[in-house]
Amino acid sequence: SSDKWEIHPDELILSEELGSGQFGLVWKGSWHDRQVAVKTVREGFMSEEEFKEEAQVMMKLSHDKLVQLYGVVTQRSPIYLVFEFMENGCLTDYLRAKKGSHSQKALLEMCLDVSEGMAYLENSNFIHRDLAARNCLVSIDDVVKIADFGMTRFVLDDQYTSSFGSKFPVRWSSPEVIKFGKYSSKSDVWSFGVLMWEVYSEGRVPYDNRSNAEVVEALNAGLRLLKPRLCPKSVYELMQWSWKEKPDDRPAFALLLHELACLDQEP
Ligand code: ADP
Repeated sequence: SSDKWEIHPDELILSEELGSGQFGLVWKGSWHDRQVAVKTVREGFMSEEEFKEEAQVMMKLSHDKLVQLYGVVTQRSPIYLVFEFMENGCLTDYLRAKKGSHSQKALLEMCLDVSEGMAYLENSNFIHRDLAARNCLVSIDDVVKIADFGMTRFVLDDQYTSSFGSKFPVRWSSPEVIKFGKYSSKSDVWSFGVLMWEVYSEGRVPYDNRSNAEVVEALNAGLRLLKPRLCPKSVYELMQWSWKEKPDDRPAFALLLHELACLDQEP
């Protein structure tokens, strides 16, 4: 049963608003002696029944490089999702805020953190579907962790879910996702390549001179993102490998993790 994951609303204290997410407001709060982030879900924005089923799978996923889901409040509406609190906020904002001061080692380790979390998801046969710097969060000790895994499946707004929708993450999506909605760990690998590009460009928007339609056109013509100035050739080669047209030609996360870890060992 889902009781095990159910948090009683009286156990939660909400303190301040952190921002507004795709489902509703996000609050900072506490749950017993832990700081938490509480995502509230506006009615009609999420398929709640399906989510309640899947939340049990998501809570069993547990890894140092994933933002932990502690539990849910589903007894009443709006439902709450209770997550591990991440002091340094989302990765995109973090990259932009400290632009010019990230060391090479720090940039590589951000990619390494995400590849560790993704290798765990890949091994758990769990597809993220919306991997991007905006869906990663940074802890107080600057560890990057992956958030929002699998959540797009419960979004009811078709502007997010249709590849023609205005909110669909075209810039992070592989060709087979854009064309056929075919998600896999290898489509996550494509998104990870874009995330590495975001890291080394310190939070720039990918293809920022193009519209969504122009991005699709450019990809079809075989064009890819260029090497950011701060990016070593060795890391750019991993990005290019992640952006192979055929999913089978892309590396698995286990391999990307290994390659990045080797680069991190170099003096
Ligand atoms: P969504 O992905 O549903 O659009 P976000 O995850 O972007 O929503 O949440 C909105 C804001 O709340 C973000 O700017 C982020 O800084 C903050 N936030 C979300 N989750 C956490 C968390 N676990 N810890 C700290 N801040 C968070």
